[in-house]
Amino acid sequence: MPRINEFQYLMNQMIDQISSPTVAVVGGGIAGATAALHLAELGVKVDLIEKNESLVSGPPICHLHAGGNLYREISVEQCIDLLAQSIESVRLYPHTLNRRPTLIVVPHSDGGDPLALLPRLEQIRSVYQTLVEQDGRNQVLGDPKQYFKLYYRDDLEVLKAQHQPADPRSYDDWLIPFAQNTDLENIKYPVVAVNEFGWSVFRIAASAMLVLEKSPLCELKTATKLVDMRWDEKQWLLILESHDGEVLTTQQQAYDYVINACGFETGILDDLVAAPRQRMVEFKAAYVTKWADNNVLWPEVIFHGPRGTENGMAQLTPYANSVFQLHGMTKGITLFDDGLVSSCQQSSQPKLPPQLENKIVNGWREEVRVDRSVKAIKHMSRFVPDYDSATEFGLPLFGAQQIPGDDETLRAADVSFAQQHYARIEVVKGSSALEAVRKIVSEWDLADTENKSIEELHPLACALSEADVEAKAKQLALGRGYPQELAQIYGY
Ligand SMILES: Cc1cc2nc3c(=O)[nH]c(=O)nc-3n(C[C@H](O)[C@H](O)[C@H](O)COP(=O)(O)OP(=O)(O)OC[C@H]3O[C@@H](n4cnc5c(N)ncnc54)[C@H](O)[C@@H]3O)c2cc1C
Repeated sequence: MPRINEFQYLMNQMIDQISSPTVAVVGGGIAGATAALHLAELGVKVDLIEKNESLVSGPPICHLHAGGNLYREISVEQCIDLLAQSIESVRLYPHTLNRRPTLIVVPHSDGGDPLALLPRLEQIRSVYQTLVEQDGRNQVLGDPKQYFKLYYRDDLEVLKAQHQPADPRSYDDWLIPFAQNTDLENIKYPVVAVNEFGWSVFRIAASAMLVLEKSPLCELKTATKLVDMRWDEKQWLLILESHDGEVLTTQQQAYDYVINACGFETGILDDLVAAPRQRMVEFKAAYVTKWADNNVLWPEVIFHGPRGTENGMAQLTPYANSVFQLHGMTKGITLFDDGLVSSCQQSSQPKLPPQLENKIVNGWREEVRVDRSVKAIKHMSRFVPDYDSATEFGLPLFGAQQIPGDDETLRAADVSFAQQHYARIEVVKGSSALEAVRKIVSEWDLADTENKSIEELHPLACALSEADVEAKAKQLALGRGYPQELAQIYGY
């Protein structure tokens, strides 16, 4: 495709908008930001209304979940949905991946059998192969033939004696730190290495902001909260409160369509417009730690375990400069008492207990943050004994996510429609956001996207430079109180 002159492209979009309907997207998390970006790139006039100062500042996104291999309990259909959605998301946000493999490990403390994963892995690999054959641009997870690899004890003993190259590429390179530091007596074999990559929430936020800040079709209304809305027979009337320092302004604005992308608060708008919906909300946290004694590059490692028990899954997510994020699926670490709540007959908005809501609104008490971080470090050191020397390294990554319906294991969800021109984006994983807004465009007939590639549909997003995205992401991380390593590109 000939490269479109950027000025010409922006002019075409301005001409298109004269006849375009107006869309309000409420909520600027990955769902709303992706929706606004997609609509604006298609030439639809959109206002993105976000009560916080910047975009994609809600619960964390650290894993792409392409193939759903981090979850043993979900169906192969969900895994395949997540695979396809993830590939499209990476093509939309090209500078957001941390390319390093994930190791899936079943310890003796878990009842599972590592070989039970194999049939599903084979199916996912075969779908990936087909997607790559259909379009070479889908090859964002490496060569499909190398999608995963198995390691037995003997293989790891060989790797133990090796030195990791400075720029690890192959699975063997990435497995060296694992072989050298993990208690190999404690785990079952084989260990599965799979190209499940990291996904940087800060670089997603940066990408969306860089595009939307310069898009002539998107009005970015940050620091603006929707407080009420109603349908007046022809259009939606939204009441918006904007903060500019101490000054609060209230205004009413009319739109043809409303997309509710309020994340775990989606039910509040459902209640305002009397569009009931069953959903759950779950509060969880992961902990940021620094392992100063480490001087090698780790892959992601999942040590499986029964959720909610003392042996719950332990997960190590690597970043630059030996900063690691930890999940521990126990009630004392990632999970919380009454952390999973449901909607009821009277309200579509599940109610979190006050102590958890308070964490979202006012932040964490120092002693709770340190206590849970230390527990997470201990939990990891059951498998990687030297991890004991790691220390807590600041604010946890935390938040509440919605799960539509009543199946708490649901991971691939996208959009639902209700009454006049009102849709809710209800993603559980960030990678479902693009699919959700594509369905909205089709249902409401907002634009013709047939036979056009992601790259053709999103010229502004696909033209971003890696350096600009990383620089903006680092600024966002620091501004939100996180180490800049969490925004830095990690892996190859
Ligand atoms: C600990 C943890 C780890 C996770 N890890 C991953 C992961 O690795 N990969 C992954 O894909 N997913 C992960 N998730 C899930 C993921 O974070 C969420 O599914 C995702 O962020 C949902 O995006 P969203 O845009 O729907 O909601 P949100 O990110 O919550 O965005 C909603 C936005 O709406 C705004 N808003 C709400 N009400 C209003 C209003 N009235 N007016 C204006 N603005 C409003 C909010 O301020 C917010 O910015 C994780 C979740 C948790 C809790």
